[in-house]
Amino acid sequence: MNPVNHQIRLAARPSGLPKASDWELTNEPAPMPRAGEFVVAVEYLSIDPAMRRWISPNPANSGSVPIGAVMEAGAIGRVIASEHPGFQVGEHVYGAFGVREFARSNGRGVTKLDTSLAPLTAYLGALGVTGLTAYFGLLDVGRLSEGDTAVVSGAAGAVGSVAGQIARIKGARVIGIAGGPQKTRWIVEQLGFDAAIDYKADDVAGALGELAPHGVDVFLDNVGGETLEAVLGRLARGGRVVLSGGVSQYNTEQPRGPSNYIELIRKRASMIGFLTPDYADRYPQARAELAEWLRDGRLISHEQIITGGIRTFPDALLKLFAGENIGKLVLAT
Ligand code: NAP
Repeated sequence: MNPVNHQIRLAARPSGLPKASDWELTNEPAPMPRAGEFVVAVEYLSIDPAMRRWISPNPANSGSVPIGAVMEAGAIGRVIASEHPGFQVGEHVYGAFGVREFARSNGRGVTKLDTSLAPLTAYLGALGVTGLTAYFGLLDVGRLSEGDTAVVSGAAGAVGSVAGQIARIKGARVIGIAGGPQKTRWIVEQLGFDAAIDYKADDVAGALGELAPHGVDVFLDNVGGETLEAVLGRLARGGRVVLSGGVSQYNTEQPRGPSNYIELIRKRASMIGFLTPDYADRYPQARAELAEWLRDGRLISHEQIITGGIRTFPDALLKLFAGENIGKLVLAT
């Protein structure tokens, strides 16, 4: 008999923060592979702020998960049955397997994981999409160079914690913006950021005036809103504002834009958004470099792994919006 496959489906589109009633836990028999397919047992789910956008009522925002469908999620799993010549039982893989315990795949978009390079969960952290977002956002989009003053928001989160460390490795001076003393201490003392600003307690613009008297050359922004405004007011001439995300605006249908965007003109600065999958053909090169930094200890990948299984997914997602994660939030199934 097949094992039970617990899955989380979208029951309703949320207004504001997702509620328990926006989700449904369903039980179905685990799938069997057909010819050219394999089945994975999901071990770790990536919990991402963008998930809120994928279930937004605003079609311009996302609209990718239909009501009644299994919630989308990136995940790491182990192949447990295979009718696919390229995937063997026992191999670990990453793919968009969804919030479920067992997933069937034909291998499209699935990556095999080399566990000799780094521990498995690092493939959701520094070697995963969030680490790659930090890498391409800072180095390609932001054109960070040695001696730059870089600022990273969401600095104790998955993207931000890796971004700040990359900036240091590349010889920039880096200031992190995060919520609360535990996070600001962690990024300075453990990750080597040069300075940190607690946006919940400090005046961000004022603190930047002291910490970056010559202005900010590169800003990797993960949160948007008031933080974006504060940094826009402190750009250096020719500064680059790189929009990675805007987590402070994900639970509203009317995101707030920066009122001081005219600063970009005065500072001959630029503001540009990007999506990491556009760099997919360069993932192997970026992963090799990130893995080397991990191996030689210059880069720390911190995954906060919560247990409780698939049924705790709704609460796990809310942790991101309450700022309850440090590093990459992962749900063990
Ligand atoms: P994360 O930073 O690990 O977690 C979210 C963090 O956001 C929380 O820990 C919290 O930290 C902060 N936050 C929550 N609500 C906030 C608010 N109202 N105001 C300010 N900060 C708030 O998440 P992540 O996975 O690394 O993602 C970071 C950003 O990168 C997201 O916007 C995501 O969409 C984006 N992203 C973009 C791409 C791309 O291709 N462009 C790919 C992946 C991720 P504090 O405690 O410090 O507030």
